[in-house]
Amino acid sequence: MLKGVTSLAGRNLRLLTTQGQVLVHHQHRAKASAAEPAELLDQETDLSKRAKFGHTGKQLQQKICKEKKLRAPPLLNLVFANRKLSFYDTSSTPKTKEDNAKLSQRRHYSMRPHREQEQRNAEDVLFDMFASEETGLISMGKFLAGLKTTGIRRNDPRVRELMDNLKKVHKLNNYETGSSAETQHLNRETFKAVVAPNIVLIAKAFRQQFVIPDFTSFVKDIEDIYNRCKTNTLGKLADYIPQLSRYNPDSWGLSICTIDGQRFSIGDVEVPFTLQSCSKPLTYAIALEKLGPKVVHSYVGQEPSGRNFNELVLDQNKKPHNPMINAGAILTCSLMNALVKPDMTSAEIFDYTMSWFKRLSGGEYIGFNNAVFLSEREAADRNYALGFYMRENKCFPKRTNLKEVMDFYFQCCSMETNCEAMSVIAASLANGGICPTTEEKVFRPEVIRDVLSIMHSCGTYDYSGQFAFKVGLPAKSGVSGGMMLVIPNVMGIFAWSPPLDHLGNTVRGLQFCEELVSMFNFHRYDNLKHLSNKKDPRKHRYETKGLSIVNLLFSAASGDVTALRRHRLSGMDITLADYDGRTALHLAASEGHLECVKFLLEQCHVPHNPKDRWGNLPVDEAENFGHSHVVEFLRSWAEKVDQPNEECQPEAVTTKTQADEEICSTSDLETSPATSPIPTPAESGSRAGSGRSSPVPSDAGSTASAGSASSIDDKTKPGL
Ligand code: GLN
Repeated sequence: MLKGVTSLAGRNLRLLTTQGQVLVHHQHRAKASAAEPAELLDQETDLSKRAKFGHTGKQLQQKICKEKKLRAPPLLNLVFANRKLSFYDTSSTPKTKEDNAKLSQRRHYSMRPHREQEQRNAEDVLFDMFASEETGLISMGKFLAGLKTTGIRRNDPRVRELMDNLKKVHKLNNYETGSSAETQHLNRETFKAVVAPNIVLIAKAFRQQFVIPDFTSFVKDIEDIYNRCKTNTLGKLADYIPQLSRYNPDSWGLSICTIDGQRFSIGDVEVPFTLQSCSKPLTYAIALEKLGPKVVHSYVGQEPSGRNFNELVLDQNKKPHNPMINAGAILTCSLMNALVKPDMTSAEIFDYTMSWFKRLSGGEYIGFNNAVFLSEREAADRNYALGFYMRENKCFPKRTNLKEVMDFYFQCCSMETNCEAMSVIAASLANGGICPTTEEKVFRPEVIRDVLSIMHSCGTYDYSGQFAFKVGLPAKSGVSGGMMLVIPNVMGIFAWSPPLDHLGNTVRGLQFCEELVSMFNFHRYDNLKHLSNKKDPRKHRYETKGLSIVNLLFSAASGDVTALRRHRLSGMDITLADYDGRTALHLAASEGHLECVKFLLEQCHVPHNPKDRWGNLPVDEAENFGHSHVVEFLRSWAEKVDQPNEECQPEAVTTKTQADEEICSTSDLETSPATSPIPTPAESGSRAGSGRSSPVPSDAGSTASAGSASSIDDKTKPGL
């Protein structure tokens, strides 16, 4: 047992100590190329451990050493091949003991923190990535284009210093570079100085450490959905005021801003429109921030009304149902006037509110449309009726001036904005009240939680229940065609298209939301852990795969058959190997877990003879570690497999679910290969991994259906 643990720590599962990320392995490999003394020491210890366990001969050790040196690619190649960045400056690796001593002395005496040191390296690596080999200069045009693919725009406030520095350098060169400030070519030192003030963000971007690591692929999918929605011409323009009825029904804009400030926009994203009901969650947030939920909700409820947004109705406590319908929003406006800023004039309250909206939008476009305001006030019989009805029922705080409150409500509806700005507001809500582009804390996270809860249940008029069911995300729509969608802790989205459905929601906006969650696992109740047919753009492609491999291998190494069975039932490919080509069978064999070995071969039908990167088979592992019972079993298995048998079929990697097995056990599908849920030989060949398929013994499920039969037997065993 002790031996197993030691070998695990030293060799088999190095991945585990690094949070199971394959990336770390890659870095490990990259670092090996630099042949740092400490690194070589590690290798030696590693090798001596192997020798101690009698695992490898001297020859093999040398082979490994040689291979590591030969196969370790230069760092930057690795970066490009994997689209990942590792920020090690190999050129500054100390070569001699003297260098080493100097470096450690410098480290010791300098006040420069480690982080800063790392960033210095980041600047060099970035330069190397984009610089031309011929000229030795970096094209800033290319660099900024690269930055844009990560979602960071040139006008992002977080790269302002970089852009200013570029202008300064351009000016210092007397504009003689033959190109603009943003397309000039710089040498290494100038580049490093130019990017230094914003290097933390830039490094994060190129390291793919944003919430959507592969922003380019994500954006492609979004474009597809956008284009599909574009062809939808259903819906009618709002016509209760002339300004809304004059919109172009073809207008269609969509903007995204993630909590890391990654931006994407498509379509009519700069066309101004009025906020209308999308202002309601924002005024509600200000009231919550200033008064707290107890006070606010002593005046307004939290329940969906189940009635029209402007219906003349109060709940059983004689309060408006919630702050997202007109009555509730008028009430919130009265709280602002009477409680939040009782001493302010109407003009001051307007400015005050607008400044909150502006801060939420990171300073992007928030204006005011006076024509809409005047029209709203003219065509407001129902809203006035709501105001009087609430006054009659003593809904407002004392000192409320109803006329001022109504004006303030119309002003909030008439604030003007565009998709770009609204996506940042939505992202601030997704980000717990902190604006992602300015990093300003606008609201407390508790406030945002309350706002999002109400948006989730009441944000899309009479469609709110269905929206919560189908989309499962907080949203708020408005009569001007806006739809603000919040994916908490991920991103904010704003869709704008004026034609509305019969419930008052933008048709294209709604379609977009529904298609978005059918493609990505953004629905509140989508499962993020297990395999699903939806995409998860939050995770790194490699990270997901790496983690499952680690879990699988860990189960095999620790002899946990139950866990292995679960992996199999969840549809996982049991033949997966780690970076060193080591499979679950290698680990089970080297740790002497006969039960696991049997399960892997008999139930999962994994190939018995995969080679790891040193050319070792599972049977070699069992032999090296002295597990004779496993060796015996593997040998006899190999003999059976190698016997020519006419009925032999390629080994199948079954990726069935438990439900599949139940179907098999209860129907005659078992004997019908045509309808069997088990993959065809061609499929199984590809799933089994290249060159790993080999014939399976006839008594261990020579056909797909026989394979399922053995699984059924397996189900009767305890521990399933
Ligand atoms: N101005 C509109 C009203 O009060 C806002 C309502 C809405 O967007 N649904 O009637």
